[in-house]
Amino acid sequence: MKLVILGPPGAGKGTQAEFIINKYNIPHISTGDIFRENIKNQTELGKKAKSYMDKGLLVPDELVIKIVQERISRDDCKDGFLLDGFPRTVAQAVSLDAQLDKLETKLDKVINIDVDSEILVDRAVGRRICKTCGATYHIKYNPPKVEGVCDKDNTALIQRDDDVKETVEKRISVYLNQTVPLLDYYTAQGLLINIDGSRDIKKVSEDIVKGLEK
Ligand code: ADP
Ligand code: AMP
Ligand code: ZN
Repeated sequence: MKLVILGPPGAGKGTQAEFIINKYNIPHISTGDIFRENIKNQTELGKKAKSYMDKGLLVPDELVIKIVQERISRDDCKDGFLLDGFPRTVAQAVSLDAQLDKLETKLDKVINIDVDSEILVDRAVGRRICKTCGATYHIKYNPPKVEGVCDKDNTALIQRDDDVKETVEKRISVYLNQTVPLLDYYTAQGLLINIDGSRDIKKVSEDIVKGLEK
């Protein structure tokens, strides 16, 4: 299964990605996670990416494309993968198609999680993440068993630097301008599955499975 999960910031991509990769046993490739890991380790890439991320802007295509090209060509992606947060521009989608073409393969489906803008800010601002294992929680909609600590490894949960109201609003407008054109791009290829992301987490997961197995 070679999949992409699309949707505005805070739609639930990462949350559903965790479910999908476990169900289908495929690697999870989140460009946002890769950048955050690089920021944590203070790499050159991390420093460059942070300057864009903190403003709610997209990291330049050439940087992102290089990372994904390298990641997808690894052995563990031969039978499938889930791309989360990539592609985000038409240029990224075109480069992904070209690479898959070279590898004599193609995407199977593109999952689009659709959520209204008003809900997104509330979801992103209430998001808490675990730096150790990457798990995502929400203070209201998906709280950990013990407030402020990860269920899996007891690490103290943190809020992402870009999950403040103004930056989330900027990220939503960047999504509307730069990423929404991908919906037509993948519809034209007959790959898009539209999912109502306003339902609760479990219902969204069930709809995704129905969409993938249709
Ligand atoms: P994305 O990866 O698309 O930015 P996340 O998966 O990190 O989004 O979800 C954003 C926030 O919303 C997280 O705090 C998550 O726990 C919460 N969340 C995800 N899906 C739902 C849902 N269906 N209903 C309510 N809250 C959700
Ligand atoms: P995410 O974790 O998907 O919400 O991404 C967090 C931030 O990382 C985004 O706001 C961008 O600044 C950057 N980023 C992640 N993926 C991409 C991408 N495919 N293209 C450009 N920037 C990206
Ligand atoms: Zn954890």
